[in-house]
Amino acid sequence: MEAEELLRRIDGAEKIIIGLGEEWALGQDRQRLLEAYGLLEKLTRGKDLWVVTTATDGLIYETAFDLGRVTAPCGNIHWFQCSKACTKDIWEEGEVPDGICPHCGAPLTANTVRAEVYIEEGYLPKWQKYKQWQTRTLNRSLLLLELGVGLSYPTVIRWPFEKIAMLNEKAYLLRVHESLSQLPEGLTRAGRVKENSVDWVLKLTQQ
Ligand SMILES: [Zn+2]
Repeated sequence: MEAEELLRRIDGAEKIIIGLGEEWALGQDRQRLLEAYGLLEKLTRGKDLWVVTTATDGLIYETAFDLGRVTAPCGNIHWFQCSKACTKDIWEEGEVPDGICPHCGAPLTANTVRAEVYIEEGYLPKWQKYKQWQTRTLNRSLLLLELGVGLSYPTVIRWPFEKIAMLNEKAYLLRVHESLSQLPEGLTRAGRVKENSVDWVLKLTQQ
């Protein structure tokens, strides 16, 4: 897809959901990744949008995206939980300076899917808000911008996006992924780009 067509689609969309997957995880050039986030935010600024991400590195906290409209169901490293999951309490950075659970004395651990027992209460309030907002996208022109989402957590972004694009006649799914950009058969309101989605976003300015 050409940058021009993407801009036209962003412009014409009443609502946008940006889904960010594995290709957006930290572990690559941090500055470059932040640049891609920045560009994505600029391209979609002012739109009625949500970002759903499976990244747990919390890098999106350092971007201009409205964090009230970002949901990270796999957790994020800026929040903490009891490593023994003795409580559903979630602490923010610096709230428990010694990093020890005040209830049971076990060390705290990052509130992400990598915790032995993941306390989902961390992300759920935001997730529910997102789902609620999503019900209002029915029959509205909706752009699903799915970037770098593979098959690690398909129930969070990939499969729901496909379902929405099937059901909502005014939706359009754009899937960008280096190796997993294939679309399900019969899904016509969709397009694909076989390219790393971070590279793809960064290239949008050069056109
Ligand atoms: Zn505890």
